[in-house]
Amino acid sequence: MSPHPRDNSSTAQMEALRLKALELGADKATVIDTSAISVSEAVAFKCRVPRCPNYASCANCPPHAPTPEEFRRVLASFRKAILFNKRFAPEVMLSPDQEAARTEAFRSIFQLAAKLESAAFYAGHYLSFGLAAGSCRNVLCHEQKGCAVLEGKACLFPALARPSMEAVGIDVFQLAALAGWDMQPLGREAKADKVDQSSLTGIVVVG
Ligand code: SF4
Repeated sequence: MSPHPRDNSSTAQMEALRLKALELGADKATVIDTSAISVSEAVAFKCRVPRCPNYASCANCPPHAPTPEEFRRVLASFRKAILFNKRFAPEVMLSPDQEAARTEAFRSIFQLAAKLESAAFYAGHYLSFGLAAGSCRNVLCHEQKGCAVLEGKACLFPALARPSMEAVGIDVFQLAALAGWDMQPLGREAKADKVDQSSLTGIVVVG
C-alpha cells in the first residue's frame, strides 16, 4: 500500500514557490499535481540505448540514479511540484563551438533546482527535492577525471548535484505538453538554424 501523500502545501504557498522559480531565473513555472507525472522505464532506458556518454559515469546517472520503480514509489508520497523551464538560444544548445555556454545553461538549471529546493525547505517543506537536466558529471565535474562518489569519496558539489528528470524516468516532454508548453526533443543531428526554440526543464517536488 502506498503511503499517504504529503499535502502540507497550501495554494498560496505553491504560488509563492512558483513566483520564486521565476525570480530565480525561470522563464516559465507552473504548479503541477504529482499524479500527472509519468515515470517510465522507457525514458530511463534511453540513457542506455543508444548509450549516452554519461551512462554509469556518475552517482546521479543510471544505473546509479534511483530507478523509475523506486522514484515512482517516492513520488507517491508527494502531491505537488513546481515545474520550471528556461529558454536558451538554439545555437547555445546545439552548436559544437558553444560547449562552454551550453555547460553554463545546464548548470543554471542545477542552480535553479537547488535554490528552489532550498526555498521550499525554508518555507517548511523539508522533504522537498529538486531534479535538474543533464548529467552532473558533464555539467559540474567535466574537469575532473571521474566522479568522486563512484571512487568512494564525497561529492564535490553536494548541494548542487542531483539526478536529471529523465534519469529517474520522468517523461519531460509529456509533462511540458500537459503544462501547455511547446517543447520538442532536439536530436544530436539537429541544426540550430532549423530550430525555433530550445529550453531546459527542471522540477522541485514539494513536501
Ligand atoms: S562528484 Fe561530481 S560527478 Fe560525482 S555525483 Fe558529485 S557532482 Fe556528480
